[in-house]
Amino acid sequence: MVKVEKLNKSFGDLHVLKDIDMTVREREVVCLIGASGSGKSTLLRCLNFLEIKNSGKIFIGGEQIEEHTHDLNQIRAKVGMVFQHFHLFPHMTVIENIMEAPVHVKKIPKDQAYEEAKELLAKVGLSDKANVYPGKLSGGQKQRVAIARSLAMKPEVMLFDEPTSALDPELVGEVLVTMKKLAQEGMTMIVVTHEMGFAREVADSVIYMHDGRIVEVGHPDQLFHTPTQKRTKDFLDSVL
Ligand code: ATP
Ligand code: MG
Repeated sequence: MVKVEKLNKSFGDLHVLKDIDMTVREREVVCLIGASGSGKSTLLRCLNFLEIKNSGKIFIGGEQIEEHTHDLNQIRAKVGMVFQHFHLFPHMTVIENIMEAPVHVKKIPKDQAYEEAKELLAKVGLSDKANVYPGKLSGGQKQRVAIARSLAMKPEVMLFDEPTSALDPELVGEVLVTMKKLAQEGMTMIVVTHEMGFAREVADSVIYMHDGRIVEVGHPDQLFHTPTQKRTKDFLDSVL
């Protein structure tokens, strides 16, 4: 469960997140949509404590997280994040990338981490790439490794920030399939995406953000077809 109450974030004079209230229940998939600069990435980054909020409350798994009293590395282990650009370690093989955090952050024995990494590679359909370096992978394969690497920490929730935006069109599908599988297994997910088809099919709810505020929240059937807010409608008209 992820809950946000009255979250505010500014960069200098720029007020980027304004009184954000949001609840994502266990096993729920929430898609975040909105124009460039509306604050979607900043919201995800606050949830992962890559950015520190100015005010408001963040609860992960029912516990209120305060950046000055919690070990942020431990929190980040609970909140996995996948970025547009995969951020794999180029000098490590695929399996070493996946084992890195479990072994060095969670101090899991290497042989156990290895077995779990193999299982995750099978899950994302890349068992044959365990000993390959990321430079030898396609974008879609890299992103699937990045997903496996995040899952290796056994997060309670996964955040995705435009995971398919940097991919050639023919590689988008394989990543969406992997994410859909994850959703079906019951992973709690918050996904910033332009893939409205994915949002329609997989999301339990869609949040439309504009200028740092949540303008509308709804089931995809409702929000896409009968948005209640004019801003939502205008945005959808511009992207659909
Ligand atoms: P996009 O769809 O283009 O990814 P977004 O909705 O993810 O946009 P954010 O990246 O959250 O938007 O940015 C929101 C606003 O905050 C923008 O005006 C951006 O320029 C500003 N911003 C983001 N990060 C920083 C930063 N580190 N320092 C200063 N301003 C920032
Ligand atoms: Mg962004």
